[in-house]
Amino acid sequence: MKAIAVKPGVPNTVHLTDLEKPSISSIPDGCGVLVRMLECGVDGTDKEINDAEYGNAPEGYDFLVIGHENFGQIIEVGENVTEFEVGDYVSATVRRPGSSFYDSIGYCDMTTEDTYYERGINLLHGYLTEFYVETPEFLVKVPAGMKEIGVLMEPISVVEKGIMQCMQIQRRLKIWRPKRALVAGSGALGQLAAMVLSLQGLEVVMIARSEKPNLKASMVEELGASYESSSSQSLSIIAENHGPFDLIFEATGSSKVAFECMEILAKNGALILTSITGGDHCIKIPADKINLDFVLNNKVMFGTVNANIEAYEQGVKDFAHAQQEYPGWLSKLLTHPIDGLDNYQEMMNALVNEKNALKVYVKITQT
Ligand code: BGC
Ligand code: ZN
Repeated sequence: MKAIAVKPGVPNTVHLTDLEKPSISSIPDGCGVLVRMLECGVDGTDKEINDAEYGNAPEGYDFLVIGHENFGQIIEVGENVTEFEVGDYVSATVRRPGSSFYDSIGYCDMTTEDTYYERGINLLHGYLTEFYVETPEFLVKVPAGMKEIGVLMEPISVVEKGIMQCMQIQRRLKIWRPKRALVAGSGALGQLAAMVLSLQGLEVVMIARSEKPNLKASMVEELGASYESSSSQSLSIIAENHGPFDLIFEATGSSKVAFECMEILAKNGALILTSITGGDHCIKIPADKINLDFVLNNKVMFGTVNANIEAYEQGVKDFAHAQQEYPGWLSKLLTHPIDGLDNYQEMMNALVNEKNALKVYVKITQT
């Protein structure tokens, strides 16, 4: 079967390769599930892997099949699979357990091990291929009524984990009713974060570099949120006009913006950091001021990566909610479909060069 792979550590090696089709018999005790891939999205992580800044090949291979934003349909189940049936639509989680305590209780997204195993990213092949096998514990059922947007399951899971963790952390305040949120970054994660926070009734402001009008701004405005360009005004001015921000969701990919967000967080507020910044950028910051402000105002900031099954399940619920509240909005995120695995070069070009792309994804199987 076809697969899109790279040679980790060597820049710009995206290519088409051939893999043996997996079989459910590779999973013991009749617990295998064979999934036909329908669609697979790509993001900044896939770009970084192709740039040789991130990612590792599985043991015994000199290539890594990329793609972690997966959506597929079950075509065969082992005799002991009770959770799923042939025909079910599913999305599989990305990370697989290592051996820390958190891995053993179903929270490998919170692993304390240095080495983590992620399909399509680190040490495990991903989903830009035709079929994969998994055990039920790593699969989430996607209702058939959501199949048009199933490829957004993994990105929404990352957003949901961040926001769920934030709410848990803020239970320290006994009562916390956040009113205003800032979303930094207008890509798919930023858009989905703006959607979830709007569904929760917060006033949302998104900031990103591009000036209005642009697609990303109009998308977020359709949610009833507002959009401000950070090229023409500083974050502190935006905070003066729209803040204070009780919750900030940072998803720009820039550590500089992450530090700027620390300066505009409201008293008792929470800053959620999600940007994966593979570089070694150094900046000058007003360290005393930021520290003092965090201490005197009981602020919280935390990092969040990956997601567990609960976050995927919350994603399904919020997709259902959004389909009612903002009909048609989610499908508009699917800006750049690529026709088939053969067009891997077009996929990478769109990912790297299309500044207006919200989601580049490969249609692997026509349905
Ligand atoms: C993926 C996460 C993953 C992270 C770090 C992100 O692009 O969406 O699932 O944990 O990269 O590798
Ligand atoms: Zn990702």
